[in-house]
Amino acid sequence: MSPEPGLGVYVHIPFCLRKCPYCDFASVRYHDGLADRYLDALRGEIDTLAPAGRPVATVYIGGGTPTTLGPERLGRVVEWVRSRHEVRPDAEVTIEANPGAFKPHFAEVLLDSGVNRVSVGVQSFDGAVLRSLERIHSSAESLQALAVARRFPTWSLDLMFGVMGQSLEQAIRDAQLAVESGASHVSAYCLTLEEGTPLHARVSQGLTPPPDPGLQRAMFEAVGDTLEAAGLRRYEISNFARPGHASRHNLAYWRRQEYTGYGASAHSYIGGERRWNVPDPTAYVGRVEAGAAPEAGREAETPQTRYLETLMLGLRMRAGVGLEELTRLATKAGEAGFEDRVASQEALGWLERIEGRLRLTRQGLPLGDSVIRALA
Ligand code: SF4
Repeated sequence: MSPEPGLGVYVHIPFCLRKCPYCDFASVRYHDGLADRYLDALRGEIDTLAPAGRPVATVYIGGGTPTTLGPERLGRVVEWVRSRHEVRPDAEVTIEANPGAFKPHFAEVLLDSGVNRVSVGVQSFDGAVLRSLERIHSSAESLQALAVARRFPTWSLDLMFGVMGQSLEQAIRDAQLAVESGASHVSAYCLTLEEGTPLHARVSQGLTPPPDPGLQRAMFEAVGDTLEAAGLRRYEISNFARPGHASRHNLAYWRRQEYTGYGASAHSYIGGERRWNVPDPTAYVGRVEAGAAPEAGREAETPQTRYLETLMLGLRMRAGVGLEELTRLATKAGEAGFEDRVASQEALGWLERIEGRLRLTRQGLPLGDSVIRALA
């Protein structure tokens, strides 16, 4: 029997220096007063709600922009997690960093706290693309941040493609520069228009032209080919890694392993139940200060949700999902016609079976979300 996978721990830091117009993450503009109260609340939540008796395999401090807190306060957050959880000596401990803020002092403090993985939100090395995204950092600041990230055993950078005004050549150049930077991991996301964001509103009102889906698809393929040709293997629709550098924390999500989350909007999945915290940082702080749980809701898994999540998360991975297990879950969920739906996506060339696993084909990868929807 394989050993029980360790627990994942996620901590949400909901602050950014300025809100990007395309972003729908739970984050607000940083200010000292709220940040101090938020950290006290976070510590309170970790102290009271940490589930006992589960060794931790991965810790992920994400946001927002965790680096708005500065290295000392971030180091303390890692220490609080360690004080309430048995974090395994070989645990992966990740911090998300934004260029501009991520200076050499971060490496000194965070390496001491046991952080061994950094993910830098570069988005693009091209000044025009950064301006189109209204990012507040420059490509020179990205290069400085990457010089700091190199001191960590694993370091990743995020790229964004499909940005308004971005050419195919610019997207390929970004992928080439990511390779040249020596990153051990790259996440490459296509810009999506999320409802409720200023960018979505501008496009809906005709003030900004919408991204071109044909060009976005060409970029998906060209960026992926560039990264893979350089030895960064695609292990998930948007994620590429050199051998041994895939994100263990994110793989655990896609494999539906258990995790606990702290902070505003954080989700947990433990004992067949999902629960989530209030998304608004001020509401989160208010609840914890009043001695109440910050939880906004919880839901027990059902055969349907187990089937759908296994399908949706499993097919994101290049390794795909065990077909026998998926068929068993579909039957339990009363999903009549599952096998016919798989067969029709196979006939279209979007799905394939490899050694008992079902996965997206190379042609199916850029259409991943719609293939998954057709199966669900
Ligand atoms: S820095 Fe990241 S989390 Fe913050 S607003 Fe921009 S995209 Fe969203």
